[in-house]
Amino acid sequence: MSLPNCPKCNSEYVYEDGILLVCPECAYEWDPNQAAEAEEGLVVLDSNGTRLADGDSVTIVKNLKVKGAPKDLKQGTRVKNIRLVEGDHNIDCKIDGFGAMKLKSEFVKKA
Ligand SMILES: [Zn+2]
Repeated sequence: MSLPNCPKCNSEYVYEDGILLVCPECAYEWDPNQAAEAEEGLVVLDSNGTRLADGDSVTIVKNLKVKGAPKDLKQGTRVKNIRLVEGDHNIDCKIDGFGAMKLKSEFVKKA
């Protein structure tokens, strides 16, 4: 198993010291397990289990009631340029006629 380069100075001479990785060139020490988690980032899956990313376009897969809006969000509505966020409603977006709102990724599919 090869060790990653130092995240600070990109040195290849990183070595293991217990659970930590240590860089002999800039003396940086870090926990590779934590680094791996940070790299993973936010994982948001649509109704088909496809991973979504910032800037994707999605389609609503079922009619959704919108709090405070006079009409439902219709199945098949295209939503452009989504932004992924933490939480229960994990998609931040703007929808024509509704404005800025948050959606649950389980109610959309990647367009
Ligand atoms: Zn280094």
